[in-house]
Amino acid sequence: MRDSLAAWLRQNERTLVPGWIKMVRSRGGDRDRQLTTKELERQFFVDFYGALVVAIERDAQEPIAEVIERIAVTRVEQEFQLEETLDILFLLKELIWESLLQSNSAEGALSRMRLIEPTFNQCLRLMGWAFTRASHKLLSERLVEAEFMTRRLTMATEEADRALARLRILYNVSRAISSTLDQKQILAAVVENLASVPQIDRCAVWLADGQARELSVAAVRGIEGSRLEGAYLSLDEDRSIVARAFQTRQMQITSEVDAQEGVLASLFPQRSLLVVPLQGEDRPLGVISADRLVQDRPFETAVIEMVQSVAEQVGIALHNVFLYQELLRLNQHLDQRVRERTEELERLNRELAKLDKKKSDFIAIAAHELKTPLTLIQGYAEMLAEGGAESMSPELLERQVAGILRGTERLRTIVEDIIDVSLIDTQVLALNSEMVSLAHILELTCHDQAEAVRERSITLETEGLGSLPEMEGDALRLHQVFSNIIGNAIKYTPDGGTVRIGARHLEAHGDQPAFVEVVVADSGVGIDLEDQERIFDKFYRVESPELHSSSKTRFMGAGPGLGLTIAKGIVEAHGGRIWVESPGYDPVRCPGSQFHILLPVRSAWGDFQKSSAVEQTEEPRDRSKSHIGVMEIR
Ligand code: ADP
Repeated sequence: MRDSLAAWLRQNERTLVPGWIKMVRSRGGDRDRQLTTKELERQFFVDFYGALVVAIERDAQEPIAEVIERIAVTRVEQEFQLEETLDILFLLKELIWESLLQSNSAEGALSRMRLIEPTFNQCLRLMGWAFTRASHKLLSERLVEAEFMTRRLTMATEEADRALARLRILYNVSRAISSTLDQKQILAAVVENLASVPQIDRCAVWLADGQARELSVAAVRGIEGSRLEGAYLSLDEDRSIVARAFQTRQMQITSEVDAQEGVLASLFPQRSLLVVPLQGEDRPLGVISADRLVQDRPFETAVIEMVQSVAEQVGIALHNVFLYQELLRLNQHLDQRVRERTEELERLNRELAKLDKKKSDFIAIAAHELKTPLTLIQGYAEMLAEGGAESMSPELLERQVAGILRGTERLRTIVEDIIDVSLIDTQVLALNSEMVSLAHILELTCHDQAEAVRERSITLETEGLGSLPEMEGDALRLHQVFSNIIGNAIKYTPDGGTVRIGARHLEAHGDQPAFVEVVVADSGVGIDLEDQERIFDKFYRVESPELHSSSKTRFMGAGPGLGLTIAKGIVEAHGGRIWVESPGYDPVRCPGSQFHILLPVRSAWGDFQKSSAVEQTEEPRDRSKSHIGVMEIR
């Protein structure tokens, strides 16, 4: 019977299903009306048809209850009301009844219907019960779900808060870094912000020295920050994770800083420590250390990533600071160079102006020097022409010719001096080197000055000439040197003064060759300290050209200013040196001057000249001391 009902239902499904769909569409809720035919068909079979068939076929409570519950859950999940579902179930019953009537007699149909009835009623009871259970189950599921969602939301909010805090720190750090190029300020902002992260109790920036031999704490903040202040570690000896992070350029994390960490054990006692390297453009700069002193828990990944990104920014910022400082240094250096060059230019300008003045002075002096003997010559020549040489007495004639000769001699001397200076200038002064007696040359020079010495009542003394050895040199040129020096000594010493010529032999000692030293000391007017270098320059005269006198021996009768230049040129060409010492210029108290002339006994011109030049440029004022000191006078 049941089998035949099932078969009947299957046979009539083609008419049953469209009828059921039509009824659902006309009586069901909005939701049903919107469902497609296919969806309704599926529902029909899944829900009722399946349930009834199973219920009728098995005729057992358990599977029916199971099926009905499944139907109810499906319906509740699809948010169908219980009433609507029951309506549909009743409608289905009517349809079955109509179908039975069509294919059976009324009695047959009734008996069949009676068979179905209890199962159908059982279905209805179960449906109500299942609806209640399904709704309840669904509700509690929704509640659990809601609770879970709330918890997830709370967690997400907390995480968002933490992420926001980290972002704020990153923002603060990058703002601080971009607002200054002051290293101290940058590092202070970094440790300040990192130490404010809840997971970080203390934060420090360690910087390496120039040779990367040592790491020292440049900034620190947080709990027990003072313990790290001024801390440093040697990169050669230390094996701690701080040193390792710097050397390997790799981040290091440890949760146990124990005794093996050496010096760090006291600085980071028994807690988590994170060390991130600070990398500059081309070299490691230091590390950032962050530690947990209070909570003994590992760092969160997000915190580690944040410290890393701060370290990256700091590395760039420190590199920028370095570049900026380099720029400043370069600027300062440039400024200094410009200042020095300007000063040098100004000095050269002054020198040039002086040289220019010297040149004009020289022209004035040379003109004067040349004019005086010329006038003399002209005067005597005119007298000869006017008076007639024949009518003159032999004495007068002799005097006039002698006057002309004196004039030409003076002219010759001046012109020769100018030629000598130009030879010295162009370094082509040739020496006739031979073995000479300097003592003899000095005696001869003194003899030449005898007349002037007598005229001016000067006492001319010599000392030590006998101790002088024979030496290599150009006798004529050496005579010229001492004529100029001794002549000057007489010229710049007032009447009745003294000129002393002292000489000595400085024997060879170690690497030092043998020398002779001559000192011409006078009791004259002296020379200002600032002039003592320059009097050896050509055309340099301490007095103005107007004071000039053409007399070679008259007191203060200055010449064209070439005598000392020539003397210096000749002495240096011999490989010697010349310098002057004087307490200063004072024509009243006459402190005197000493001219020192140092000449090698054997010619070693080139070498000595070079070393002499070096000494002169290095220490102009101490020339005398340095050289004599080295020579060791015996
Ligand atoms: P000048 O022909 O003017 O004497 P020098 O070259 O011989 O030229 O000397 C240069 C200057 O050095 C002199 O004008 C003089 O002012 C100074 N001078 C040289 N020797 C002495 C000295 N013994 N005492 C004082 N001043 C001197």
